[in-house]
Amino acid sequence: MTRMTHQQIIHWLRETDSAALELLFAQADEVRRQHVGDEVHLRGLIEISNHCVRECHYCGLRAGLQIPRYRMSHDEILAAAHQAVLLGFGSTVLQGGEDFGIKAEWMAEVIRAIKAETPLALTLSLGERLPEELQLWREAGADRYLLRFETSDPRLYAAIHPPRKGTARSSPSDRIEQLKLMRQMGYEIGSGVMAGIPGQSYEMLARDIEVFADLDLDMVGIGPFLAHPDTPLGRPDTPNAGAEQVPSSEMMVLKTVALTRMMCPEANLPATTALATINTVDGREHGLESGGNVFMPILTPSPYRQMYQIYPGKACIDEDATQCNSCLRGRIDRLGRMVGEGPGGRHTRVSAWSGRAASDAPGWKPVAEVVKASPLTVLQ
Ligand code: SAM
Ligand code: SF4
Repeated sequence: MTRMTHQQIIHWLRETDSAALELLFAQADEVRRQHVGDEVHLRGLIEISNHCVRECHYCGLRAGLQIPRYRMSHDEILAAAHQAVLLGFGSTVLQGGEDFGIKAEWMAEVIRAIKAETPLALTLSLGERLPEELQLWREAGADRYLLRFETSDPRLYAAIHPPRKGTARSSPSDRIEQLKLMRQMGYEIGSGVMAGIPGQSYEMLARDIEVFADLDLDMVGIGPFLAHPDTPLGRPDTPNAGAEQVPSSEMMVLKTVALTRMMCPEANLPATTALATINTVDGREHGLESGGNVFMPILTPSPYRQMYQIYPGKACIDEDATQCNSCLRGRIDRLGRMVGEGPGGRHTRVSAWSGRAASDAPGWKPVAEVVKASPLTVLQ
């Protein structure tokens, strides 16, 4: 079985013909249906801290920005996790800046309490942390870890993601290595990129999609880059890749999601909040129709929710958890899909590209068969 080639991925990223793209989305939707079904999993997102030691050139939480900072207490996090259960979610994501005010043992206690008091699957997304901290949290019960590698291009990565102040340049950040390590620790691993970050060429984005498949990611989050005016990449004169620059448009995100579904058929792919921000009307629906199968309703309580503005105009910050829940359930319903029950983890760890059986779900077909049956020849 052959997977899409680099040149084919680039071809689709550049494609502008709407009829051809409709076929790509339909095909990705079919691969999604065959491999992860019609269920849309709800992962309650709790943004536990907006403190951050990093100065990522794109992010509105970067160190040094004069914004009000907060860190949720143990009891506040537990209350939000219990709300996730009440709202019928099977999993929760604890996300925050890279905040070393979050001590490893304190975090482990929070994880133990959530796992003891709720049936939730638990994802962490707390940036780059030490191996011993990641191991402690895994042993405390954390199931999954989300860490976007942002770009697989080492030069672009170095330009937009500087080393932490006070750390040696000889030990640069390496998110891909951390992902590999977490996989060995038994975490389900999730990663992703922003489409259209300044300096990102078609070549680089195609390579990112190939790296998703090479890492056999369990989750992949893809959203548009949204310029924050108080960050280096938010300045109008920020350098970009010229004629090769990927635009940060809704269409580019949808193409990237669809191609990721083709390359990572079994992965969980969210229709992200950033996609809902770039198209507030039906960006989320478009994400689900292009290969997505996850929503991440925000459970962060006010006033913290308004203080976690990684980019301006972020969707859903004026609603509360109950409103987000009913809004998202309505959207799922109107698409004729159903809300997933339970933790909604990776169905199987066997890669569809390995030639081995990927699932024993009834009616399951390998990607190549779905593709063969489609009028669109994406794969060789
Ligand atoms: N601090 C953790 C980390 O960096 O992995 C988790 C929180 S961080 C805010 C989550 C993600 O937000 C980042 O991985 C990045 O892809 C995304 N993000 C940051 N700034 C953004 C922007 N201006 N536009 C779109 N997404 C952005
Ligand atoms: Fe901090 Fe994450 Fe924002 Fe980077 S992307 S500044 S690590 S919160």
